[in-house]
Formats: sequence, C-alpha cells, structure tokens
Amino acid sequence: MGTRLSRNQQRSRNGYIPFYRPFTDTAEIAEARDAIRSGWLTSGPKVERLERRIGALVGSPHAVAVNSCTAALHLSLVASGVGPGDEVITSPYTFAATGEAILYLGATPVFADIDPETLNISPEAAARCATRRTRAILPVHIAGLPSDMRAIGRLARQLRVPVIEDAAHALGASAHGRSIGSISAATCFSFYATKNLTTGEGGMITTGSAAMARRLRLLSLHGLSHDAWRRYRRGGSWRYEVKSLGFKYNMTDVAAGIGLAQAAKFADMQRRRRILARRYTSLLGDLDAFDLPREYPDSVHAWHLYIVRLRRGILKIDRDRVIELLGEAGIGTSVHFIPLHLHSYYRRTFGFKRGSYPHAEREARRGISLPLYPGLGLRNQVRIVDTLREIVTRNRR
Ligand SMILES: *Cc1c(COP(=O)(O)O)cnc(C)c1O
Repeated sequence: MGTRLSRNQQRSRNGYIPFYRPFTDTAEIAEARDAIRSGWLTSGPKVERLERRIGALVGSPHAVAVNSCTAALHLSLVASGVGPGDEVITSPYTFAATGEAILYLGATPVFADIDPETLNISPEAAARCATRRTRAILPVHIAGLPSDMRAIGRLARQLRVPVIEDAAHALGASAHGRSIGSISAATCFSFYATKNLTTGEGGMITTGSAAMARRLRLLSLHGLSHDAWRRYRRGGSWRYEVKSLGFKYNMTDVAAGIGLAQAAKFADMQRRRRILARRYTSLLGDLDAFDLPREYPDSVHAWHLYIVRLRRGILKIDRDRVIELLGEAGIGTSVHFIPLHLHSYYRRTFGFKRGSYPHAEREARRGISLPLYPGLGLRNQVRIVDTLREIVTRNRR
C-alpha cells in the first residue's frame, strides 16, 4: 500500500492532479485473473460472493448485482410496478441516469426542488409534488450525504408508494443510525469507475424483501428462471424458461472479482476519504469565498464528493473561471451536476425553463467538486488548497 501511494504521489508531483484515480492494486488484478483462469467469466460464484459481501456491508438480507446503477434503478422501478402514465418524484439535482430510468418505463419524472443547504431533495417540495399518479419516490444522496429519510419515509407511507434510493454516491453512508441500503424498498448503488467502490462498471440493489429480490434477479437476466446461469455448469440443466420480459443487466464474475478486492479494503478507503474531507474543511475553513460541505450529527457522510460552492459577491471571477484557473494549475475538478431540467432533451420534451427549480439552479451554478479519492496524498491536497487560496487572493473584488 505504501509503495502504491508514493508512486501515485510521484507521478503527479508538479504535474497533473486528476479529479479521480481508482484505488486499485494487485488484489484487483489477482481477483479478475482468478475469474478468467477459472473459465467462468460471466455471472457466477464471485457475483454471489459480492452480493453477500455488499448485503452484509449495508445490513440488508438481499443484494442483487447488476451491470450499472442505471440498470439497478430501472429494474427497481419495473419490479415496483411503475409503468406508463405513472409519476415518480425525484430531484432535478442529479445525473442523467436517475431521470432515464424513470423515462424508460414511460413514466414521468416529477422534480421536487432541493434543500439548498444539503443539495438533496426537499421533503416539503416532494410533498407538494404528490398526485394520484405518484407511484414512487426516488431520493438521491448527493455527494454521499443521506437525504432526510425520516421525512421521505413518512411521505411515502402517506402516499402508499415505495421509496427507491439512488445511492450511487452513498455506499457506506447512514441516516439516523441506519445504513443506506437497509431502509427502503430498494436501494441502488453504483460501482462505476469513479464511485467509492468500483467494479469498472457495475451496480447493486439491496432490498429487505425476498420477493422483491427474486423478481429483480429474474428481471436482471432476460426474465429467465433463477438458476439459468448455472445451466452450463456440470449438472446444470439445459432447460430454461422466460417467465417475464427481462433485461440483460447481469454482472460478470470478472467485474465481481474487482469488487471483492475493493470490498476488502472498503473500510480503509472510506476512512481515507473522511480524513481528506475533514482536512479540506479545516484547511479551507478561513477562506470566505467558499461555502463548504458539512457533516450532520444524525448521519454518516460517505464522502463520495467534496463540493465547494463559490459565494456571491466576493470574487470578481465566476465559478467557471475558477475551474479554468484550477485546470491551468494542473488540478482536475468536476461539476455535480447540471440540473436535469436544464438539459436540452428535458427542456424540449417537458418545456422546462430556467427558473423552474431555482434552488437546484442556483446551487449547481456555484459548485466545484474538488479531487477526493483514497490515494490523494497530503502533498497534493495541500497543493489544491494553496492554489485555491491564491486564486481567491488574486481575484478578490
Ligand atoms: C454515477 C451515478 C449514477 C449511475 O451509475 P452507473 O453505475 O454509471 O449507471 C446514477 N445516479 C447518480 C447520482 C450517479 O452519480
């Protein structure tokens, strides 16, 4: 581990600090090679092990592996019976996948504006979006900070609809003492390359319901009877039956192998993220130009992202220029997110305009996601902070 860190640091000293770098070493290579050597490349024993591992990690009795969080969201909505004409209440402050999963079903995403402090869906705004057609509530835990799950749960019970969580950022998070992944009808995790735990591409759905898990499993592989993947193993039967209209969303054993290696060091990776996030907060604390993300006493933050927000009226340059200057200094950043309703597809299809969701718009315009990953060394983090400090000093109004 020590050699890996020092190598990463050397490579980027005085050079480019990327926005993200995966925390992989020989363990991921060994597990992926093991899958390939075994002759069993697609869904098999490693996928089953990863499902048990993630289920245990989040305290959920059932976990179903899929090949992306987008697939996880789609399947969870299908399995919850969402269909054409139905409405799903969600946040506009999210990635394309959240809206897509709803739209695949001919259902309508009904956006509720965010709480400008947390960037998560406002339960009050969500309540105002409820109609007779509401069929699910889909909160997104931005940056790894859990949404207000008590209020969302209450609203869902009133409306008698399930909560499906977009927890792409939130593996390792918890809300009022309960792990994200153990609370709602279905929770969807992403194992995309940049996420807190990666399989390259991949995802996982956790659920407390055995019936839901069976349905998800069936739908994830063409609607085939559960043991279909075993049919090419010794003693497997060639018979299979298409029981439902399913999808091709299963995870491969090569990907699951990478995930098993990642799961073994997940606690360590999360500890590193937390240390880095708290260090950003302490090092940037005296800079009046930025609002910093914070932790809340009743939840555990998964620290997928560290989003600073430029305060208005302090600098004579805007957020985009700050990003440009960071780039010129060799520091990669990102923006999470451009609100869904502002994208041309959504404007064209639903007639959204600027001003439709003012909190989401205002916060999205001033956010900058700083590099945050387990292998980001102290030296690089200090360089990022010093560069920000210099940008603020030079561009004060
Ligand atoms: C990454 C992400 C997804 C999609 O995850 P994939 O595994 O790439 O499909 C969904 N929602 C949010 C908020 C994300 O950040």
